[in-house]
Amino acid sequence: MSSYDVAIIGAGISGSAIARELSKYELNTVVIEAEDDVASGTTKANTAIVHAGYDAVPGSWKARMNLVGSRMYEMLCADLDVPYHRTGTLVVALERDQAPLLEELRERGEVNGVEGLELLDKGRLLEMEPNINPEALGALYASTGAYTCPWEMSIALMENAVENGTELLLGEKVLDIEEEGGHFGLVLKDRTIRSKYVVNAAGLSADKVASMVGDPGFRIAPRRGEYWLFDKNTEGLVTRPVFTAPTPLSKGVVITPTADGNIMAGPNAENIDDPSDVSTTQQGLDKVWNDAVKLVPSLPRRSAITNFAGLRAAASPQADFVIGPMQGHFGFFNTAGIESPGLTAAPAIAAALTGMLKDAGLALEKKRSWKPKRKGLVHFAGLSRQEQDRLVMEDHRYGHVICRCETVTEAEIIEALRRPVPCRTMDGLKRRTRLGAGRCQSGFCSPRALGIVARELGVTVDSISKNGDGSFYVTGLLDGAEGGGLDD
Ligand SMILES: Cc1cc2nc3c(=O)[nH]c(=O)nc-3n(C[C@H](O)[C@H](O)[C@H](O)COP(=O)(O)OP(=O)(O)OC[C@H]3O[C@@H](n4cnc5c(N)ncnc54)[C@H](O)[C@@H]3O)c2cc1C
Repeated sequence: MSSYDVAIIGAGISGSAIARELSKYELNTVVIEAEDDVASGTTKANTAIVHAGYDAVPGSWKARMNLVGSRMYEMLCADLDVPYHRTGTLVVALERDQAPLLEELRERGEVNGVEGLELLDKGRLLEMEPNINPEALGALYASTGAYTCPWEMSIALMENAVENGTELLLGEKVLDIEEEGGHFGLVLKDRTIRSKYVVNAAGLSADKVASMVGDPGFRIAPRRGEYWLFDKNTEGLVTRPVFTAPTPLSKGVVITPTADGNIMAGPNAENIDDPSDVSTTQQGLDKVWNDAVKLVPSLPRRSAITNFAGLRAAASPQADFVIGPMQGHFGFFNTAGIESPGLTAAPAIAAALTGMLKDAGLALEKKRSWKPKRKGLVHFAGLSRQEQDRLVMEDHRYGHVICRCETVTEAEIIEALRRPVPCRTMDGLKRRTRLGAGRCQSGFCSPRALGIVARELGVTVDSISKNGDGSFYVTGLLDGAEGGGLDD
């Protein structure tokens, strides 16, 4: 039976950040992820903002981890070659009764220790963002706010952890947990693995995973948020994340640039029952649309290229992150209820949790060979003409453009398949290369890309899925056809 010092359940941003933090030490660490790729849960569908930290209730885990995490982000992104744009963020008052809310947020932010908060009058606001509704009254500017790419951050953290010796098991769901003589037995489909310490970073399932051990003392309820994503021809419509005033359930609807040069609008906030229901609804999208056009009246609906939804994992009764040891079950730790600002807070949560593991007796001996840096994939489309020419001369597959909307080349697809974290699904390929993420949403490129993936992985096209769980593109071959390449 495999035996580990620490087993982390879940490879979203929380599990990935914890894995990377623990990879600094001489430990035998394993990450177990139910899906076929990292960042397949909430981490793949959110607003991607590195929040400044003015929202959360002072003194809460959310407030403390947000502030520390936000201060860690820039350096972490530089080390891991992940996009980070420190543009500052704005909360806009569109109606008279919203103006006092801005003052409230500023005061709360200052109590939380956030620097660089400033109330702007309408003139300053419109100077900074000329496409905002001219009826706006003013805004709160948070100069330390930023945006990033959430799945790239999670992939980068995990790649770096794996390069530093962490073991990653994909497509392996923890079905049960047995406590046995100072160890835990994690029951997978066809084996059980042993670990002295367990970290539950299972997102929307964190309550189910914790209850495999005992009474978790919290419940996770999904809260859905829906989005509109706009074509790159909208680039520049806003130059930083711009929020409407917050509501009791959410930070408000935001219109934001993405790290890839699109514009995105969302989310609404709707409590739902099913933790797997990431469908979009007419009602939800209409709500986001109506709020978004009040903020930026020229938002062009014709430029929308897709919609999607993400689920916040809200913990009750705490209404806060649940971070720490589970009482009565020595060695079992939760990072649960990691709703927003969990993306921002993840590096701080990882550091705090590592401290708690140490307090519980985990020996943290620094790994002398630890590598802090990771190099990201080449993105051909973002290079200068000279750099592109140089790459094509070195490897002709950079001259073979597969995704026309996003200019993704065959060489990038091949590189994505050979990284330290295996990429086995077409959505995984999209998250790493942007293949199929553009205007046509993979209508043209997916058959050719499927052929390349099949050839490179030595599998048949009918075994390649969109995102695991039977989501195959090809469900059978015609009589006499062979299951090889579709790319020629
Ligand atoms: C609409 C929306 C907008 C948001 N916007 C922001 C924002 O702008 N900024 C910000 O800071 N935060 C934001 N957040 C919050 C942020 O996205 C989350 O806090 C973060 O992604 C949570 O990451 P996680 O790793 O805890 O969970 P997840 O990403 O959900 O990862 C949990 C993983 O555990 C796996 N798992 C579950 N059960 C098992 C099991 N039994 N065995 C093995 N694996 C298992 C799942 O497959 C999943 O991959 C937003 C969230 C939403 C929904």
